[in-house]
Order: sequence, then C-alpha cells, then structure tokens
Amino acid sequence: MAEPRPHVRCAICGKPVHPSHRPFCSPRCAEVDLGRWLTGQYRIPGPPAELEEDSPPST
Ligand SMILES: [Zn+2]
Repeated sequence: MAEPRPHVRCAICGKPVHPSHRPFCSPRCAEVDLGRWLTGQYRIPGPPAELEEDSPPST
C-alpha cells in the first residue's frame, strides 16, 4: 500500500482532491472557495449606507 502522494482533501467538502482541480476536488468547490474570498475581501458594491439613528419627533 505505497501511495505515491498523501491524500489531500478538499477544503470545501472534504473529498479527495482531484489532480486537475487542485487544491479542490471539483470546479464547483473552486468556485465556492473563490466566492468566499471575494465576499471576504471585497465589500458589496453599492451606495454608502450610513446608519444614522433618526430620532423622529414624538409628537
Ligand atoms: Zn470539494
């Protein structure tokens, strides 16, 4: 049982990594990881929404 290389598992789903899609098991997981990166690094584009507490006159 001499394995040529240690089994590396996909960081997304934990399945064995596919050589063609390293370090993931499939393009799907690669997209998931990419999505995590994007959501982690970039903010969602849009107008700056400042959360100012509006105190409406309670009249
Ligand atoms: Zn995977």
